[in-house]
Formats: sequence, structure tokens, C-alpha cells
Amino acid sequence: MTKLLWLVDNPLLLPDFWLEKMEKEKGWKIEIRDRESKVLNFIDYDRIFILGDSLSFTRERLSLLAYEWKVNPSKIQVFPWEEVKIVFPQSFFSILEQFIAQSLAKPLAPLVAERVVPENKVLVLPQASQTLDQALKEKGIETVVAPSSTLRREGINFHLFPSGDTVGAVVVSPPEEITPPVSFSSEVEDTRKLVDLKFMEKEIEKKDFRGETIIFLLPKRGVTEKEWLQTFYLSRLLAKRDRAEIFVLVEEVLVAGENLEKEYRQARSCGVIFEKVTFSSLFAQPTLDMRGIEVEFTTERDRLKRKIKADWLVSLPERNVLPFDLAPFFDSDRIEEAILPLANPNLSSFSPGIEGIFVSLPGEEKNLVQVIEKYLTQGIVRERGRVEVNEEKCILCLTCLRTCPWRAVAIEKERKKTRVNWELCHLCGLCASFCPAHAIEIKGLSFEDWLSPVSLGGEK
Ligand code: SF4
Ligand code: SF4
Repeated sequence: MTKLLWLVDNPLLLPDFWLEKMEKEKGWKIEIRDRESKVLNFIDYDRIFILGDSLSFTRERLSLLAYEWKVNPSKIQVFPWEEVKIVFPQSFFSILEQFIAQSLAKPLAPLVAERVVPENKVLVLPQASQTLDQALKEKGIETVVAPSSTLRREGINFHLFPSGDTVGAVVVSPPEEITPPVSFSSEVEDTRKLVDLKFMEKEIEKKDFRGETIIFLLPKRGVTEKEWLQTFYLSRLLAKRDRAEIFVLVEEVLVAGENLEKEYRQARSCGVIFEKVTFSSLFAQPTLDMRGIEVEFTTERDRLKRKIKADWLVSLPERNVLPFDLAPFFDSDRIEEAILPLANPNLSSFSPGIEGIFVSLPGEEKNLVQVIEKYLTQGIVRERGRVEVNEEKCILCLTCLRTCPWRAVAIEKERKKTRVNWELCHLCGLCASFCPAHAIEIKGLSFEDWLSPVSLGGEK
């Protein structure tokens, strides 16, 4: 009897008569469990089938499941339940039956899902800012600063030349440029009413701003979440406690995230006025008595021209991350194309999409270090033995090397052979599909296996 485990969204969807028939005719002992339920021993089963929306089960997710369940990854198969149900409702069970029969007919490939953990060290390029350095120290992550080094990827780590050091991650900390959100004339500065957030934080503790008008200016780029929260908090306090008239002029309001949205709503409910304004059209000049600053702007919503006499103008700086060329640091010309997203680091998130390379953006250092710490301690799960290059068939055309989006293919210099680095391979299958010599085999992952009965409407 073949023991099969089926993980489904809704166990009631499979009729008992069909299951009994499969047991009697095919010798399949099918145990059905809810996908969320805990199954204590996955290794007891000959195969594990996940019946569901196949698109949500990426190869990486399946590798992780294989690792957690301690089973050979090729034992886990996803049956595209949702898709087949929609396209072939009449022949659904016949397709399912063929899918299982085909899976069972193939011997299991000798695969292992393994966790690959990088070296707990990072290289910061070109050098860590004070905040980043501090955040890395707090997490006990050793940093290597070697601006004259070149790097080469070796497995999941990076090897540094000439020092011979190995690091698990590279953090790019591009230089930043800090500018005022609007160019203020020296006369405006002379009023001494143009202040920053820190000044307001201190003053609010000792001074009453009753009846005064305060404008906060928040540019589009480089305002941290902490600064947004602080602005919401201060403006609310000034409006509520001191009954001050508060305007928050912004280019974009950042309210993503539960906490920010709550603070934003609270500030608004206390009477704080938020106005979306294009800062390039904003004009500031001292009031005639030099006791304040007159701010002129056009509201974006109704294109109204407004002029406000402010007693205080709280201006937050705009921070721009400058483009930073990583290519000279890497011992490979191909890295340049891989790090293209860094050409505009203001648009990048923490990772430019290359495993082990992170981008540090101003104000986000602590969050970034949490991500890095997780990566360095937990690493990634990969399948050893899944992709194999047949050396006899390979004609060394290097198509796979050029195709692989994850830089997992290398040429062994000594033997002049193509090699797939399983630690980096994401099992996307591109190399195999482009190889003109059909020399690359991805074991246990054949698209035709389920496509053929499906495309025949289950009649095969
Ligand atoms: S694409 Fe195929 S033939 Fe060309 S180098 Fe890669 S494995 Fe060899
Ligand atoms: S399957 Fe091939 S192309 Fe895809 S990541 Fe692995 S080696 Fe690269």
C-alpha cells in the first residue's frame, strides 16, 4: 500500500467514494489533512501532495517546507487544484488520478533541502555611517571595512582580496546629500524662526505656544518614519495643549503602517491642517517686523493661493542617497549589470535583489540591521542535487552562465566545466530551457508531467 498525504484547503471537497475506489484499485492509502493542521511525522508518507493554488507555492517555499518537514523535496508535489477545477471541471478527478500515478511512477531524486548559513560578518561599502555602525554593533555583527578590497562570490559568502577575509553579506551605505526642502534666503534665516524638529522637541517642554502659528515643512524624500511620527505628535500637542494654529505642508503624506495612520488621524482630529504642496512653488520671506516668516504656496487639491504668517517654520531636511558605483569592488564585470537598481538607490528597498547584498538607506538603519541579522543567522534553504549539468553533453557555450538571473552558474577554471552552485540556485529552470545541448537536468521538476494530461483534458 502506498501512503499518501494530501494537504488541502477544505478536506470536505474530496468524496469518500472516490478515495475508497483509489485505495481498492490503485493501492493508494490517502490521508487528507487541512493545510494548516499539524502533521507530526511527514517522513511516514511516500508522497506529499499539496492541492491548491499552484502559483502561491514557489519553489523556494516548497524547499522551505521540505526542510521543515525533514523530507526529500522531490516527495512534495503541488497539484494545481484551483486551475484544473476552473479549466476542466468535468475531468477533474481523472486528471488528479493521472497526476498522482505519474508522480508515483517516477523514482525519487536523491535531494536534500539544506539550510545554508552565511558567515556572520559584513563588509560595508564604502564605509558605515555612525548610525549603521552603532546598529550593527548592537546586534553583535562584525563589520569589515576594506575599501581597497575586491570581492568574489564564493557560494553564499563573499571572498575578499587581498585580505583573504570572508563575509556573509555586503552592505552598501551610499553617501547621502542633505539639503533644505526649500532654498531659504539669508533674511529668512536671520529671523531665527526657521528651526528644526529637534529645536521644537526641546522648546515644547518649556514654552507655551498659545495663539501662535507654526508651519511644518516635510519634503518628499528622506523623511524617516520616526520623523513623521514626531511631527504628528508635536503638531497634535501644539494644537491641543497650546491651541496653536498648525499647518503641516507636505509633498507626500506618509501614512503607510497602522501606527502612522493612527497618529495622522489623531493630529487631524486635533485641528492640525495638512496641505499637499509642490515645494518648488513655495516661497518664504521674513515678515515686515522680522518676527516671523511669511510663507506663500498653492494648494495642490484646489489650486488656491495661500499666504500664512508663521511664528515658527519647522523645516525637515531632504535626504538624497547619491548613486554609488559598486562595480570596482567586484572581481567580475557581470556584477555591474546585476546592481543596476543601485543606479537610483532612492528607489531601492533594503536589497537590490542579489542575495547577500543590502542597501542602507538613511533613517532605516535599525530596520535594515534586523533584516541582515535574520539573513546571517538563518541563512536560506536550498536544494542540493536538484540541478545537474551533464558534462558529456555540455558544449561550453556559456548560454546558461549568461541566462541565470541568480549568478548560480560558474565555469570551473581548472576543468573547464559548467557548474551550478546549488547554494545560489533558485530553481527557476531558465538555464535548462535555454541550453542548446539539453545538458542541464532539473531533477524531479518536469513541467510536462502534469501539463500533458491537463492539456488533453484528462483523456490521456
Ligand atoms: S548552456 Fe548548456 S551547453 Fe551551454 S554551457 Fe550551459 S550547460 Fe553547457
Ligand atoms: S535553475 Fe539555472 S538559471 Fe535558474 S537559478 Fe538555477 S542555475 Fe540559475
